[in-house]
Amino acid sequence: MSVLTVKCPTCDTEVVWGPDSPFRPFCSDRCRLIDLGEWATESRRIADKQPFEAGLGDVDLLALDDELMQQDNEFFK
Ligand SMILES: [Zn+2]
Repeated sequence: MSVLTVKCPTCDTEVVWGPDSPFRPFCSDRCRLIDLGEWATESRRIADKQPFEAGLGDVDLLALDDELMQQDNEFFK
């Protein structure tokens, strides 16, 4: 079984040409962005920021607690 490989244009690493290499012909997303230029590196940093969702889980937990308390009250009557 022969595997087709290409060399990453940025760092000359051998890259397997297949579904396991989503950034081909580059070896990684980083090398792809380096090739695109500095501006692309900046936009990548913005894309990496995750939306702030910490409050959402707390609200769900509180609602669940209320539900459990009501069930307990029914049970112990
Ligand atoms: Zn590379």
